[in-house]
Amino acid sequence: MDHNSNFIRSIIKEDLETGKHKEIITRFPPEPNGYLHIGHAKSIVINFGLADEFNGKTNLRFDDTNPLKEDQEYVDAIKEDVKWLGYEWDELCFASDYFEEMYNRAVLLIKKGKAYVDDLTPEQIREYRGTLTEPGKESPYRNRSLEENLDLFERMRNGEFESGSKVLRAKIDMASPNINMRDPVLYRISHARHHNTGDKWCIYPMYDFAHPIGDAIEGVTHSLCTTEFEDHRPLYDWVIKECEMENQPQQIEFGRLNITNTVMSKRKLKQLVDEGYVDGWDDPRMPTISGLRRRGYTPEAIREFVKATGVSKSSGAVDAAMLEHFVREDLKLKAPRTMAVLRPLKVVIANYPEDQVELLDAEINPENPEMGMRQIPFSREIYIERDDFMENPPKKYFRLFPGNEVRLKHAYFIRCEEVIKDENGEIIELRCTYDPETKSGSGFTGRKVKGTIHWVDAKHAIPAEFRLYEPLITDEDENEEENEEKTFLDYVNPNSLETVQGFIEPNMKDVKPYDKFQFFRHGYFSVDSKHSTKDKTVFNRIVSLKSSFKL
Ligand code: ATP
Ligand code: MG
Repeated sequence: MDHNSNFIRSIIKEDLETGKHKEIITRFPPEPNGYLHIGHAKSIVINFGLADEFNGKTNLRFDDTNPLKEDQEYVDAIKEDVKWLGYEWDELCFASDYFEEMYNRAVLLIKKGKAYVDDLTPEQIREYRGTLTEPGKESPYRNRSLEENLDLFERMRNGEFESGSKVLRAKIDMASPNINMRDPVLYRISHARHHNTGDKWCIYPMYDFAHPIGDAIEGVTHSLCTTEFEDHRPLYDWVIKECEMENQPQQIEFGRLNITNTVMSKRKLKQLVDEGYVDGWDDPRMPTISGLRRRGYTPEAIREFVKATGVSKSSGAVDAAMLEHFVREDLKLKAPRTMAVLRPLKVVIANYPEDQVELLDAEINPENPEMGMRQIPFSREIYIERDDFMENPPKKYFRLFPGNEVRLKHAYFIRCEEVIKDENGEIIELRCTYDPETKSGSGFTGRKVKGTIHWVDAKHAIPAEFRLYEPLITDEDENEEENEEKTFLDYVNPNSLETVQGFIEPNMKDVKPYDKFQFFRHGYFSVDSKHSTKDKTVFNRIVSLKSSFKL
């Protein structure tokens, strides 16, 4: 995070310097209605990061006030993701733990004449609310007596009324220029089982009521949220004041993180999962934390990316290439470099002794010599990449073609002598010869070749599956949904996943889920945690090697 331009940091610093607060407390408040995405990572990094920086505290608070959409599965996944990102919360809190306290504060509002029970239907409430240009209209139930309001609210709690038949509203100002202040709903009736409170409650507080009270109960000093809540801030402050909360948290808004070629809302991501566009919340194409983890992203890369996007009021979309840049940076020195052939073509080296196997030495990571050396077996039959051979090459094709010589990475020069085809004319094998003089590292200078290709030894190679990804969403501009008939689902990329079967070097036989490698020329890959088996390792390509991104 660019500390100089982080306006939230400046506010916190000043609040500590002036003694307004002795210690700061922030909170990360997800609603457990889906898995976390990388946008949430921004909120996590800001909340936990600032508290860490100033020796403060951060709570993880589940904003669980809408039982119909929430689930324990999401609670568990969110906890796992926050920890994986590298953060520890001070207190684990649930808005639902404060339901009793919230109820009592609502009763206080009624007693102060600041809240009333309304029998208007949801449609009527919307209609009465007015518009940006027209003031709202007062509900005919607005002037019920304190006694009647207290009685009705208690009976709402006791389950005497049907879901949706009554609400508790704040009594503020139906003519306010800020629509959020036109007697906002504070409580609704919903006879739904809650993942935390079970059947204890059938009235549930609205976000705008629950959030400030939760913040105040926990002593949160700086309540950081995204800019869509800016217009809710007057209501936030009203609730704190009228409910006579002892602590007075300050709401501060920052711009949401958006990334090109993806969607960033739990509702849309849930749709992709529910409608089968992807294979779960942790599908490696998803911008969820669990998807990025499965794809092979590291917590370090995500944190550094989020910090580099900065903290400001604006929320323009960040280029997906920037996220990729940060994972390359993180893996450059960490990932062993090996060879994998994704689309194999058999090559027989005709003049190589039939039963001979030699072990070639190679550095595990030339940019990080401390990682040491590995040995790669080499013998008469190898696999090369199909793309690295062309029977009729265009000009400037420097890889293998009939009569041409290339270097096999870490091994020898080979020359293509013969192309073998099956009855359909498909190329099934190449016959080559090698020159023993040209061994890598031998200091051979006799002649030069223009191409270096990778390979694996056929006898020792381990079969593997490779999953190659493209962005989940195409056409970033049209994705703005200006075209009313289209939804984001119309822009789901049908080619976002390609699966190929190939081979890896034998020294990778003991890989574990999440192990990461740089495959020569192919990019960074991570072992899939869900579909790899004892017999077949599945690799997800995290990112290719090429980058157009400049920081
Ligand atoms: P979504 O629409 O994806 O469900 P949300 O804002 O409803 O997002 P919450 O679970 O309420 O999701 O979010 C928890 C916190 O994360 C909130 O403080 C919210 O402002 C923040 N947050 C959510 N999305 C982003 C984003 N794209 N960039 C930055 N912060 C975000
Ligand atoms: Mg939400």
